[in-house]
Amino acid sequence: MKNEIDWLPILIRCRENVKKRITPLLENERKQQLLNLGIGAGGDPIKQIDIEAEKAIVETLVGQDISFTLISEESGIREYGENSGENYVTADPIDGTTNLTRGIPFYATSIAVSKKPKLDAVHTALVADLIHDTTYTAEKRKGAYRNNQKISPSKQTTLEEAIVGIDLNTYKAREIAPQLTSLIEKTKHIRHLGANALELCYVADGKTDAFIDIRGKLRTTDTAAAFLIINEAGALITTLDGKRLNTKLHPKEKLTFIASANQKIHEKILSLIKRVEA
Ligand SMILES: [Mg+2]
Repeated sequence: MKNEIDWLPILIRCRENVKKRITPLLENERKQQLLNLGIGAGGDPIKQIDIEAEKAIVETLVGQDISFTLISEESGIREYGENSGENYVTADPIDGTTNLTRGIPFYATSIAVSKKPKLDAVHTALVADLIHDTTYTAEKRKGAYRNNQKISPSKQTTLEEAIVGIDLNTYKAREIAPQLTSLIEKTKHIRHLGANALELCYVADGKTDAFIDIRGKLRTTDTAAAFLIINEAGALITTLDGKRLNTKLHPKEKLTFIASANQKIHEKILSLIKRVEA
């Protein structure tokens, strides 16, 4: 029996429930921060928000009688229902937790659905900015959308005018940064906003022109949904060698990638990164 689940409305419901669930916790977090004079409240309250967000997603799906395997940043791989191999739900319940706990209004819920635990098998995706009520969605071969409006990447082809996001947040900065020096020198505006799923959606939406993460640290749980959104918007995401990205979806699986608005700027970025490596 083939189950034809209409996933998009279900993912929207997940987003609503995540928001409901974490709002009171955020208020607590804010009070605590004031008490601590802005010092991060440590591991536990942060984790609690992440875990509650994940619970909201799981409960929403279970409430719909859906069988699925959850691949999550928070609790690893878990199976729900009788036919848990029918659907894979890859989630980062909160992408950008550090922003959230410090009151920086840039974080998202990321959920991707696939029939197999593979990045290129993702058929429905949602990345929801919970602060600005901006929700990016995509379904395979149906385009990518921001709040139901079709999106497309920028036509920017010169780095001299571009906005490029680079995640340099790594203990290996000494190794990684030199590979990017030429690119940084050529690029007009460099950004890093702290929630990679959402930053990838910004490339899909023409808000930025590229986003690069060559740290080898980013998990597939963070990227699975944005990967489909990028592709469906018509932007590109490849390895450092310009090859198609594909990997298994697993909480421990890490990715290195370059995402760009179009082929021209993509090639420029690839060549600049390579030149440093050579
Ligand atoms: Mg997270």
